[in-house]
Amino acid sequence: MSTLEIKNLQVSVDTEDGAKEILKGVTLTIKDGETHAIMGPNGSGKSTTAYSIAGHPKYTVTGGEVLLDGENVLEMSVDERARAGLFLAMQYPVEVPGVSMSNFLRTAKTALDGEAPKLRTWVKDVNGALDRMKLDTQFSSRSVNEGFSGGEKKRAEIAQLDLLDPKFAILDEIDSGLDIDALKVVSGGINDYAAREGKGLLLITHYTRILRYVKPDVVHVFVDGRIAESGGPELADELEASGYERFTTGAAV
Ligand code: ADP
Ligand code: MG
Ligand code: MG
Repeated sequence: MSTLEIKNLQVSVDTEDGAKEILKGVTLTIKDGETHAIMGPNGSGKSTTAYSIAGHPKYTVTGGEVLLDGENVLEMSVDERARAGLFLAMQYPVEVPGVSMSNFLRTAKTALDGEAPKLRTWVKDVNGALDRMKLDTQFSSRSVNEGFSGGEKKRAEIAQLDLLDPKFAILDEIDSGLDIDALKVVSGGINDYAAREGKGLLLITHYTRILRYVKPDVVHVFVDGRIAESGGPELADELEASGYERFTTGAAV
């Protein structure tokens, strides 16, 4: 049994005008085997949630905690978070010039496992993961995300997810900028991951489209830095039909 608990998380972001309160107390618990979706209008704090769990320096946690199997993630270094089994795919994946995908992944895998993967099987594994994401194997020698199209970055993130095999994955707008074929490929990779034993998944998305392919167990609607409502997959169907209006009316957005 493994759980990721977000408890009353409050976060401010550093802006030029000082600290701005974004998350006003977010609480949710994901058990292994579960897929949760966070949906919400632009600016509701979805990415802020992902960034603060990732440990991005611009985001200051002012209250609450994030526990992975009871351990406070927020007290860990970024490396320790990864070693504890967290994986985060950001809305805008960063480019890492001069570091090849293959070396980047090998270093990450070595840090996670405590020993370097065997070179022969590793090359095969990397090529297999790229191939499943319909990325040419030459991507392994290209610098991480440098010059990748939006869709290629998203595919590359899922190839990483596949190879690094974390306990919990948080994917922020992994569906943005994907055409329908790419969406199916990426969703297939996410479903393969989620079907593995003991995995938890938090899918952050603005649109319901990906939820036709990746079925959530729980859907949370985010409004103005809070969860306005949680429910089953039917909540996504309702959002698809009626949008966010019912949730945003009266909210100070
Ligand atoms: P979402 O992902 O739901 O669209 P975000 O978490 O990106 O929303 O943003 C929530 C709010 O925080 C927005 O009003 C946004 O402008 C603000 N915000 C987020 N990051 C920053 C930042 N680095 N500087 C200034 N404002 C920010
Ligand atoms: Mg599952
Ligand atoms: Mg966002």
